Amino acid sequence: MTEKIRTRYAPSPTGYLHLGGLRTALYNWLFARSMGGEFVIRVEDTDRARHVDASVDQILQSMKLVGMDWDAEPVFQSERHDLYMRHFEMLREKGLVYPAFETMEELEAMRQTAMAEKRPAVYSRAARDLPWDEAKAKIAEGIPHVWRFKTPLEGETVVNDMLMGGDECRFANAQIGDFAITRPHNKGEELQFLYNYVVTVDDADMGITHVIRGVEHLGNAAKQLLLYKAWDYTPPKFLHLPLILKNGKKMSKRDTDTDGRFPVSVTERHELGYVPSAIANYIALLGWTAADDNELMTLDDLREKFSLDRLGRSNANFDEDKFLHINAWHIRHMDEGQLLSEVKPFLEKSGYAPDAPWLKKAVHLVKERCNLLAEFPDALSYFYHAPETYEEKAVEKFFKSEISDDVLETTSGRLSALDDFSEDKIEALLKQTVEDMGLKFGKFGPVLRLALTGRMQSPGLAEVMVVLGADESVKRLQAAREYIQRHNLSSAAA
Ligand code: GLU
Repeated sequence: MTEKIRTRYAPSPTGYLHLGGLRTALYNWLFARSMGGEFVIRVEDTDRARHVDASVDQILQSMKLVGMDWDAEPVFQSERHDLYMRHFEMLREKGLVYPAFETMEELEAMRQTAMAEKRPAVYSRAARDLPWDEAKAKIAEGIPHVWRFKTPLEGETVVNDMLMGGDECRFANAQIGDFAITRPHNKGEELQFLYNYVVTVDDADMGITHVIRGVEHLGNAAKQLLLYKAWDYTPPKFLHLPLILKNGKKMSKRDTDTDGRFPVSVTERHELGYVPSAIANYIALLGWTAADDNELMTLDDLREKFSLDRLGRSNANFDEDKFLHINAWHIRHMDEGQLLSEVKPFLEKSGYAPDAPWLKKAVHLVKERCNLLAEFPDALSYFYHAPETYEEKAVEKFFKSEISDDVLETTSGRLSALDDFSEDKIEALLKQTVEDMGLKFGKFGPVLRLALTGRMQSPGLAEVMVVLGADESVKRLQAAREYIQRHNLSSAAA
């Protein structure tokens, strides 16, 4: 029987979900989903000092935003103390942990000496063989201490990583040292366990079969393997992901501070106008390629195509241009109802009504021109109100001409008489008018475009007019005529 895959994402609630964290979460989720397995969330909230209250919600919201889901209620480490204590008793019974009483200053001095003597900068194991009676007496006296794990003195621990390989996965036990499994403990306090300890207990207890996470945890995997062994648990398979580089440096949360245009938080990217499906698409490509080399994928495509054996070992480069390009593709290809709901908050922010009856049609017309959701309010502005100004260069080129007034007068007159204001009919009317006036469309069209939208570029004239309606279209053509007359533009050209 093949084992049921179970993966997890284990965020520390120290802030928002950043794009690097999203990649980890996404790969775990995609792997589980593509294998018919389960995906769960564990909130690593034992470090109260670094805890940010709103961040659990924010992280979960960001995951939901890109379309991820999970198979059980999130587990919180802060609620699992009893489980950790039971495991602690097991290690004590086996004589695999011991209390060590050195102060921070003493530890630092030991570290300095070790480094000066070119020995591994790990704990000296000074307290490892302290007789239990003595240790007990010190504890009873209330001397602060941490509990350490007895790492074998010799040999090595090898992480059989599914992606990494070679020397970087071999850890001499002497280098690992007797690592602390608790924070410094004062009399009367509850024991507080550290990361490697709780992660191992939790992954074993939660039946996690595959641990996919950043390469910075490769060394931790060695410590975790020692703990699995101590409890006689079968370890999961580990897969450590290479770094994400931006401009040649490890991408970090600080990148946002140095350049506000490129936030690393998932929510802020969304607020900037990146569509959730594009965020998932681009982030999935930071270390993974599809077998068919296609790079433009919806979340469903990703689920279908994802497999661990297509992950790469080299660091991934975060490329803003590519991200933007992928975003533009999603804007153009996503379901239009969904696009509309993504665009609405941006319109509201700009003071435009998000419920205009013609909005879906207008969004359809301008979507080819928008690379970011945030570009929609501007692209749609002339549907909301008549142009307040006309592009200066275009005025010079198209309004300042002996034909502009005539073009506007003739066309608006004919449009007012049109009984069926449909795209086809308008199209035919424009064609006929150009012909009757003996003009080229390249001279005729831009005058109307400028009058209707204030711009040199826009979707097709007939399409724009249908959205604006007959009255508004005619009104705009007449307003442009008045503008031309007021500024003597036709005669200026003559
Ligand atoms: N809470 C850890 C982190 O955010 C999780 C590491 C792990 O997946 O084991 O880095």
